[in-house]
Amino acid sequence: MATQHVRSLLTLGNWKVGESIHIWSLPAVETCPGSSSLCRAVCYATKGRYLFDAVRERLAWNLEQARRDDFVPRMVKEIRRKGCLVIRVHSAGDFFDEVYAGKWLEIMRTCPKPRYYWYSRSWRCPEIASVLEQMAALKCCRAWYSIDTETGIPDPVPFGVRLAFLQVKKDERPELADMTFRIRRLRKESRVGLPMVCPSETPKGRERDTNCGNCRRCFT
Ligand code: SF4
Repeated sequence: MATQHVRSLLTLGNWKVGESIHIWSLPAVETCPGSSSLCRAVCYATKGRYLFDAVRERLAWNLEQARRDDFVPRMVKEIRRKGCLVIRVHSAGDFFDEVYAGKWLEIMRTCPKPRYYWYSRSWRCPEIASVLEQMAALKCCRAWYSIDTETGIPDPVPFGVRLAFLQVKKDERPELADMTFRIRRLRKESRVGLPMVCPSETPKGRERDTNCGNCRRCFT
């Protein structure tokens, strides 16, 4: 009898998160209903290795799985089997609709042992935002709303939500934010007046091989 190979939903590690964090990703832009023209223009998940056929095929497969009715039990089973400690939800992509966001809410409620963290612009879609707020209120979840000068700031900022500002121009400073991510071109520029800059995007942080696994600021 032929052996049936079942592909895992989660992958383990990359240069950004380190070796011990599990990752779930989707195709960028087509799953990002809250995206801004600014973030689409600089999105890392539309460039480089994300253009390889194997990566595109993998992300398209993930999206198919995310739409299936059995996505929640399969993900829960895999998280338990692998003993995941930290899960980065959407290294690429975003919560593309209310039903899909509800699936992650159910996964987190059913399986609250790992620490989940995500960044999302889907807070700009009211029907998805109501689900994101429920996730943000869970102890196992660290929720970041991604903002830039085009999105503005959610008002009010929901309980449990922190703000991650995308800096795309040298003189931009956010009105309110807890973290800054910068496009590659700005990573050597002065950080004066900015909230904390992700250390994996600073020259010193790169020298020290900083990644999410040894930094942990976004999920602790
Ligand atoms: S601040 Fe730390 S945990 Fe957050 S994205 Fe940067 S390296 Fe990862």
